[in-house]
Amino acid sequence: MNNNEQLFARAQKTIPGGVNSPVRAFRSVGGTPRFFVSGAGSRLVDADGKEYIDFVGSWGPAIVGHAHPAVIDAVQRAAAQGLSFGAPTEAEVELAELLCAMLPSLEMVRLVSSGTEATMSAIRLARGFTGRDAIVKFEGCYHGHADSLLVKAGSGLLTFGNPSSGGVPEDFAKHTLVLDYNDIGQLEDTFARAADRIAAVILEPVVGNMNLIQPSPAFIRRLRELCSQHGSLLIYDEVMTGFRVGPQGAQGLHGITPDLTTLGKVIGGGMPVGAFGGRRDVMQHIAPLGPVYQAGTLSGNPVAVAAGLATLKIVGEPGFHDRLGQTAARLVDGLEAAAREAEIAFRAQSVGGMFGIYFRDGLPASYAEVMQSDRERFNRFFHAMLDRGVYLAPSAFEAGFVSAAHSPADIETTVALAREAFAAIRQG
Ligand SMILES: *Cc1c(COP(=O)(O)O)cnc(C)c1O
Repeated sequence: MNNNEQLFARAQKTIPGGVNSPVRAFRSVGGTPRFFVSGAGSRLVDADGKEYIDFVGSWGPAIVGHAHPAVIDAVQRAAAQGLSFGAPTEAEVELAELLCAMLPSLEMVRLVSSGTEATMSAIRLARGFTGRDAIVKFEGCYHGHADSLLVKAGSGLLTFGNPSSGGVPEDFAKHTLVLDYNDIGQLEDTFARAADRIAAVILEPVVGNMNLIQPSPAFIRRLRELCSQHGSLLIYDEVMTGFRVGPQGAQGLHGITPDLTTLGKVIGGGMPVGAFGGRRDVMQHIAPLGPVYQAGTLSGNPVAVAAGLATLKIVGEPGFHDRLGQTAARLVDGLEAAAREAEIAFRAQSVGGMFGIYFRDGLPASYAEVMQSDRERFNRFFHAMLDRGVYLAPSAFEAGFVSAAHSPADIETTVALAREAFAAIRQG
C-alpha cells in the first residue's frame, strides 16, 4: 500500500520538501499533503482512496472539470500523432487565432509553457520596447518566480524593492518598485517621480494570489491613464483570471485595454501552456522579428495545445461563464450564511469562477488587510473540511476555484459540510 503518509515520507527523501511546488506541502495549514490518484468532474480521489469535492482545480486550469471526455479525447488523438516536433504545427496557429479572437486586446500572441515564462518574457519585452529598466508591481500580487518579480516592498515609500527569495541579486530587485494595491496616491507619486524609468506596470487585475482581492474601478482607470500618458506599458497578468472570471478575463469585466496580457492555467486545460500577447507594434519586437530574445523547445507543444483548444472551445460556449459565476456565487452565499449561523467572523466573495474566503469582518482591499484575517481559524476550518471530503486551497492566502462540473448538489453538500465545520471550529 502506498497511502498519503507513506508517499509523503518517500517523496521527502528525493524531492525537496516532498513536493514540486511549495504550497502543495501543506506547510501553512500543517498535516500531510494529499497525493491524488485520479480526478473526474468535480471530484478527486487520493492515495488513501478517499474522495473529495475539489475547489482547487489544479489552481485554476480544471475549469471544465477533471478528465473532461472532450479534452481527454483531444489529448489522446494529438499524442498518437507524435508528442513534439520542435517545428510549427497547425494546432498552435489555431490556438493563437482563438486567443486573439476571444481577447480583443491581443493582436499577436506567443505561446510558452508556463505562466512564469509568460510574465518573464512580457517583462523583457516591455523593457526592450521602451528602453527603460524599472518595473512596478503590487504587494501581494504573484507573477511567477522570475527574478525581477520575486521582490517585496523596500523600507520606505518609493524605494526600490528587496528580494523576496534567496538567490535574487539586490541588483535585480532594485529595478522593481513595489506599491500597495488599490492605492491611487502612491501610484501618482511614483509616476511623478520616476515615470521616465518605468518600462511597465504589471498587476493581477483581479488578485488571486493573496486570497481574492478586487481592484477599485478608479484605481485601474488611473493606472491605465498614467501608463498611456508616460509611455509605460500596462501588463495585465491574467494567468489566473484569463477565461476564469469572464469570457474576456478581467479586462473584459472592467473595460480596460492593457498593452500586454499574460495567460496560463485555463488556456492549457491542465497541460503546460502559457502565452503573452497584445499590441502588434510591441509584439513585433520579439525575435525573430525584433531584438528581444525569447524561445522554447516545447513552446506550442501539440499535445498541450490540443488540451487548451478543447478546453477553450467549451469555455467559449454561450452561457458558460454565467453558469460558472452562479455556481461560485451560490457557494459563497451558502458559506456566509453558514458562518453567520455559527456567529463566526467570516466573509466570502466571488468573481466569475473564482472565490475568496476570509476569516475577518470585511472584504479586504490590500495585502495589509488580507493579512489581518484569522489564519489559525482558517487552518482549523481547512482541516475540518478536508476530513469531511472537501479539498480547499491549503493556505488562507489563496483563491478558490469552481468548475463547470460542480453541480448544484455539490454546492449544497459543501455548504452543509461547512455548517458542520464552522460549528466544530467554534467549539475547538
Ligand atoms: C499561477 C500564476 C503565475 C505563474 O504561472 P506558473 O504556470 O505557475 O508558472 C503567474 N501569474 C499569476 C497571476 C498566476 O496566478
